[in-house]
Amino acid sequence: MSSLTATTAGPRLTVDLDAVASNVRALRGLVAGSVVAVVKADAFGHGAVAVARTALANGASALGVATLTEAIELRDAGLTARVLSWLNPVSAAFETGLRRDIQFAVPSLAHLAAITSAAKRSARTAEVHVHVDTGMARDGASRSEWAALFAEARRAEREGLVRVVGVMSHLPCAGEQHPSTEHGRRAFLDAVHLAHDAGLRPATLHLGATQAALNAPDTHFDAVRVGAGLYGIGEGLRPALTLTAPIIGIRSVSRGTPVGYGLTWRAPRDTRLALLPLGYADGLPRLAGPVAHVTLRDRPLPIAGTISMDQTVVDLGDCDAQPGDEVTVFGDGSEGEPTVSDWAAWANTIPHEIMTGLGARLERRYRSAP
Ligand SMILES: *Cc1c(COP(=O)(O)O)cnc(C)c1O
Repeated sequence: MSSLTATTAGPRLTVDLDAVASNVRALRGLVAGSVVAVVKADAFGHGAVAVARTALANGASALGVATLTEAIELRDAGLTARVLSWLNPVSAAFETGLRRDIQFAVPSLAHLAAITSAAKRSARTAEVHVHVDTGMARDGASRSEWAALFAEARRAEREGLVRVVGVMSHLPCAGEQHPSTEHGRRAFLDAVHLAHDAGLRPATLHLGATQAALNAPDTHFDAVRVGAGLYGIGEGLRPALTLTAPIIGIRSVSRGTPVGYGLTWRAPRDTRLALLPLGYADGLPRLAGPVAHVTLRDRPLPIAGTISMDQTVVDLGDCDAQPGDEVTVFGDGSEGEPTVSDWAAWANTIPHEIMTGLGARLERRYRSAP
């Protein structure tokens, strides 16, 4: 029945865990300290649990996520590695997190108060990373708050409610030769000195992410939080995602036939059109339509007309195709197919946004294991 299965399968996302493993090893080899594998947003759409296991088996020392919910998903799957969650509202269920041995970033006095009171209620010591902003005005504490935050964290440490195990920040332009990287590094060192002055002895200082791992060795400190790189975003790394879709219908049209919503595209000649059962609800950016293509056995097939929510039409030209044939929407590019980065360029965005926008109804499969 395999031919029936092949012809009835819908769009499928294949995650190559060998590529993730090879990226983790490559990044591990670049940094002096440890690698925190960032598996937020369902590991950029690759599947948080499978990526976490693969990363830990290939040299990552800990896991990083944005939210507590994401951290708990990892614990529920049986992962026992260190997990750091850095983006939570003051009202988050910190007590639940502490019971599951989740570490938290502390970006404000209000967060510290919420975490210490959760520690008191659960009779635990919270392991925290003080999160400082060193030049992107986004998610850490502003410089004017550092001294008070460190002093308060030290007081909570003396009461046995928290242990400050890290100081963290983030760089906005580490992929370019940009002065903000050196400014950020110096500001980070200022924060570390203030932490020491307050009596704290954080063992893990971490500032950089993927671009810092690749381009800014003097920002590596004790650990680098690597997200994008795991998924092949970055010079020399391997993309891990392949998206394929079956042709579910073919029609012949004459030159000038308008296609799709808005009738924005007309057949440039007599041609055949193929229908693919995926669209922007599955994560294909509608903006890319006018310039994007997919491939069928190395042949590029341009998108014909507007990408719909669930459907996309491609122009077959003289390409020989049957219903049931599988087209490649993107892959690692090794067989001439587009990559996620191509789709990102076509849609005037970055590959991260394409990866995290892939829809829940795509069937996901894994190639290889940790
Ligand atoms: C997303 C994120 C990372 C990972 O960044 P990449 O560029 O994907 O490696 C690291 N740290 C923080 C605070 C983040 O939000």
